[in-house]
Amino acid sequence: MPHGTLPVLDVQDLKTVFKTRAGEVHAVNDVSFHLQKGELLGVVGESGSGKSVTMMSLLGLLPMPPAEIRSGRVMFEGQDLLTLDPKGLRSVRGARIGFIFQDPMTSLNPVFTVGHQIAEPLRKHMGMSKKRAAERSIELLELVGIPDAGRRLYDYPHQFSGGMRQRVMIAIALACDPQVLIADEPTTALDVTIQAQILELMKELRDKLGMAVIWITHDLGVIAGIADRVMVMYGGQVVEHAPVHELFANPQHPYTSALLKTIPSISGKRAARLTVIEGQPPLVLGAPTSCPFRDRCAQAMPVCAVKVPPRYDVGEGHDAACFLVDPLEVANAG
Ligand code: SF4
Repeated sequence: MPHGTLPVLDVQDLKTVFKTRAGEVHAVNDVSFHLQKGELLGVVGESGSGKSVTMMSLLGLLPMPPAEIRSGRVMFEGQDLLTLDPKGLRSVRGARIGFIFQDPMTSLNPVFTVGHQIAEPLRKHMGMSKKRAAERSIELLELVGIPDAGRRLYDYPHQFSGGMRQRVMIAIALACDPQVLIADEPTTALDVTIQAQILELMKELRDKLGMAVIWITHDLGVIAGIADRVMVMYGGQVVEHAPVHELFANPQHPYTSALLKTIPSISGKRAARLTVIEGQPPLVLGAPTSCPFRDRCAQAMPVCAVKVPPRYDVGEGHDAACFLVDPLEVANAG
């Protein structure tokens, strides 16, 4: 973190478990990260890596039970979100921290006009009059690039294309000028041209409004052009974290290297066959006692089966949770 600047969001040692008949699933294990004002943090991993559960834990969006937040601290605007009651959390969620979900068709209510749905948080969180909320809704639709915004306010979600619905979701999330915007796979359901437009729009809005963004995705390629930093998650843990250029140029964790090989090249050379990461992400039953990636790791050593690798510092703002970066562990294995 740059010296002297306080992060807008600071998460420390977050641990979330789900109580199931099979036992306790440790979905988020000691996750720590921070977010500076105006920066875009990419959070990458396969399904089941814990990225969405981490973000839902911050905002109290998980059903409890079966979920339980065991420990951690989530500092935002001087308060620990994990200590807020449901009313306090609701006043943060959708206002100071915006959230964009994956599928705009199921996230928007089909029986209300988009104007109604944008105006709702403005009236609820910002106490705007009906008239002022309608004016602000038009401004927001214009901001996200919806033409003829004054008329489109009265349309229903089914009258918008997939890309336009996603823009409406972004407008709703931006309505109350959030400090932080969390976008959970927001372009996955869209075709590649629309994906590129939405990414470009997010970049523009981040620069214009100065908010910090957390962009969750399973695809490293998607965030290569927009993220400042990237956090790679696996088995409910942060396995690597670095500035985006550093992560692409100098990956340290075998999982990050494998993820990078799954990105198609556009260099013009005949592409080598894309790599598939063999095996499945683990379901962590019980507290982790080993490296979560060891069953899929070609470089696993005996220590990987008996200890959880800590996050080793490997460079400026770069850390990796792998024993391969610890010369002592490698020497012991040799
Ligand atoms: Fe592979 Fe061991 Fe590193 Fe885990 S800690 S990624 S198993 S080498």
